[in-house]
Amino acid sequence: MLSTVFFDNSLAQTSPFPLGLNIIRAEGIYLYDVSGKVFIDFISGVGVSNLGHGHPKIVQAIKDQAGKHLHVMVYGEFLQQPQVRAAKLLTDTLPATLDTCYFVNSGTEANEAALKLAKRATGRTKIVSCIGAYHGSTHGSLSVSGNELKKSAFRPLLPDVHFMRFGSEEDLKMIDDCTACVIIETIQGDAGVRIPSVQYMKALRKRCDETNTMLILDEVQCGMGRTGTMWAFEQMEIVPDILATGKALAGGLPVGCMVASRKLMETFTHDPALGHITTFGGHPLICASIAATLEVYRDEKVLEDVKEKGLRIFNALKNYPAIKEIRYRGLFFAIDLESEDIVNRVVEKCLDRGLIAFWFLSCPASFRIAPPLVCTQQEIDKALEIIVDALNDATQ
Ligand code: PLP
Repeated sequence: MLSTVFFDNSLAQTSPFPLGLNIIRAEGIYLYDVSGKVFIDFISGVGVSNLGHGHPKIVQAIKDQAGKHLHVMVYGEFLQQPQVRAAKLLTDTLPATLDTCYFVNSGTEANEAALKLAKRATGRTKIVSCIGAYHGSTHGSLSVSGNELKKSAFRPLLPDVHFMRFGSEEDLKMIDDCTACVIIETIQGDAGVRIPSVQYMKALRKRCDETNTMLILDEVQCGMGRTGTMWAFEQMEIVPDILATGKALAGGLPVGCMVASRKLMETFTHDPALGHITTFGGHPLICASIAATLEVYRDEKVLEDVKEKGLRIFNALKNYPAIKEIRYRGLFFAIDLESEDIVNRVVEKCLDRGLIAFWFLSCPASFRIAPPLVCTQQEIDKALEIIVDALNDATQ
């Protein structure tokens, strides 16, 4: 039967069966509901709470900025110090060509802006994306996402969008002299953690260079250390023309950011001027939180043991008989089971036992785990106990 927990509270509902937990507090990797029940957040709120919940330095930075000022002007008129600090810290993590940040409010907006920038900079309209891609839910991002089931009700979408197979070198020939951009997740997230080869990514970069096509890497989900390096593209030996990020960037506040070279970004200043605008992008509270988040990554060496923790999870689960396949990089996991039905049971049984695992949008026979990067070995072991228990229960 349809749950109406949201509608009953005057809130829009987009799923027939939302988890419907009533969370009133969160700290570290733990969520606390209204009845006092504790849950391990083993998906980081879907790729956001990489530093856990309520990191004191982030909370303090938000409080400090709230005491100074909130919104004072739409983006791009007043130079605001939190923006300057956030841009400096973010570009410090990136190669020299990615030196200019455009802060927006969500991941999908970062992709929208990136698609516009590529069209504007090249004067071309053709966009190449990948089967299985997820880039967001607004019209442009939906147009370049791969899930036909999610798209068909909303046509017409953007014209001149073409889909190639993720990882197929043969399909790179779809990129030609009419192509404005390729938009691609460095590691596909909602298709179930699909990891391309370095060779493929290098061939993709080469093909884009040959045809003067902009390469947009969407790291909204796989960036910010999720895969063990700050950016997943560091493991692919390539650099994008435009990087889209979001989710974990502001430590739990809403955010997106498109990063490119200054030269590329300059195209938004003319023909037309104000080529991309936003009221709240670069909001001082968000930028203060971005700066604090990036300082924590830098000062607390958050990425040091992400790969080791990932390996610990992989080793604990790899021989489990009901698991068909594990795809992972760092702490980004897709675990394939026999069927969608069993996945549903595992997610449910994890929840009963106080652990949040989750589904993928476009990979029904697989469940997601993506714990906070700061979780300890002991916390991982406790979580694994619950997951194995739930697997036993669900597959018996
Ligand atoms: N791109 C990727 C790879 C994502 O995983 C997501 C969200 O899951 C988005 C874009 C959209 O981000 P948002 O939900 O913040 O708009």
